[in-house]
Amino acid sequence: METRTLEWDTPMYRLAVAQLDQTAQLMGLQENLWHRLRTPQRAHVVSFPFRRDSYDVVQTVFGYRVQHLTTMGPTKGGIRYDLGVDLGEVTALAMWMSWKCAIMGLPFGGAKGGLRIDPRQFSPAELQRITRRYTSEIIDVIGPDRDIPAPDLGTDEQIMAWIMDTYSQTKGYAVPGVVTGKPLEIGGSLGRKEATGRGVVTCMVEACRDLGLPVEGARVVVQGFGNVGSVSARLAHAAGARVVAVSDVASGIHDPAGLDLPAVDRWVAEHRTVQGFPGAEGVSNADLLTLPCDVLIPAAIQGQIDGDNAAKLRCKLIIEGANGPTDLDADRILAERGILVVPDILANAGGVTVSYFEWVQSLQHFFWSEDEVNARLVQLMTRAFTDVLATARQRGVDLRTAAMIRGVSRIAEAKRRRGIFP
Ligand code: NAD
Repeated sequence: METRTLEWDTPMYRLAVAQLDQTAQLMGLQENLWHRLRTPQRAHVVSFPFRRDSYDVVQTVFGYRVQHLTTMGPTKGGIRYDLGVDLGEVTALAMWMSWKCAIMGLPFGGAKGGLRIDPRQFSPAELQRITRRYTSEIIDVIGPDRDIPAPDLGTDEQIMAWIMDTYSQTKGYAVPGVVTGKPLEIGGSLGRKEATGRGVVTCMVEACRDLGLPVEGARVVVQGFGNVGSVSARLAHAAGARVVAVSDVASGIHDPAGLDLPAVDRWVAEHRTVQGFPGAEGVSNADLLTLPCDVLIPAAIQGQIDGDNAAKLRCKLIIEGANGPTDLDADRILAERGILVVPDILANAGGVTVSYFEWVQSLQHFFWSEDEVNARLVQLMTRAFTDVLATARQRGVDLRTAAMIRGVSRIAEAKRRRGIFP
């Protein structure tokens, strides 16, 4: 397949396309659909001047919002604040969102956005101003029927509240449905903050059942202790597993007897890092991945498990909380070694699933109880896991390929049904 995709060409985009190509070939996907799915339908690139708190300092900031596919309904996807953000990264993440929504049966196409900044270098006032300016730059392409942002790496419910407020100020009335992952007081959903981690742990429990691996006492290692990582660790612990190591951008901590997670939470609340937590050994992020354990949950950033370290991992099961943590070489090595990988597009789909619940609640102004949200999430995740596993068995492929086949088939069928305009 020959396509000039220079605009998006980065390692992460190449990974997303290589995964699609592999799946499309296996499925015998019609060439024109295959071609279309390799690139986003719309890609918005913005740059704007940003005044720091120190009045005379003005910086140029780059931002993106990419909508991969508008066939399935409005587009949906997170907003990332990170120095690594570029058009290729955001496009890859938007593609993964398309497959994820289709696997879960949600009425959305994939999108993603971001600013190329390090949010830790910004004051709260600066974060608010930059978020409002970015929102105003993309205001024409977002909206509850158009494209609905959510939190991702480096963003949180406060950032979503500022996006919602900026959009609503422009419209002249409150529009809670324009974002998800927002605070409860302005129309957020109970259970949204924990949703991605809850989905990760639901997949962990299901995969353990399939492998005949008892969850009780299973040794779990989690890379990343942000929204996804910390909730996954807490819920894995609540399910009976023993969390032996966690990390953040600074480094990790390891206790083979099991970490006292409430104490780690208190330490992080005070010190803003897991580093230095008393009573545990320090471990680098690279070494953390190769610790002996039953379940490894990468829940930080992409590009962590590759051809160099895949042979050294000492886990039985990988549940991908982060997007794009494993490359194709690693997938092959892990399959050969009999390590089961539950792919990102299934394992971390709990976030967008409860975002869907939040969007529905925002549109209807009718709110669900936390038990209702959690029960529906677990039901949908369990069903998706079972379906993907069945496809994997039927076609003799790994779970990533099976999940991709399910996602891409649904989108291809929708595209065939809608036809081509004009
Ligand atoms: P977050 O900003 O809340 O947390 C990220 C964590 O990773 C932090 O502990 C941070 O210190 C750590 N980290 C950052 N850079 C790192 C590095 N280079 N090495 C090791 N650790 C590093 O972000 P999050 O929302 O938890 O997202 C984490 C991952 O999960 C991302 O890949 C994101 O795309 C994915 N994801 C998030 C959601 C969601 O609902 N938030 C949903 C689906 C997928």
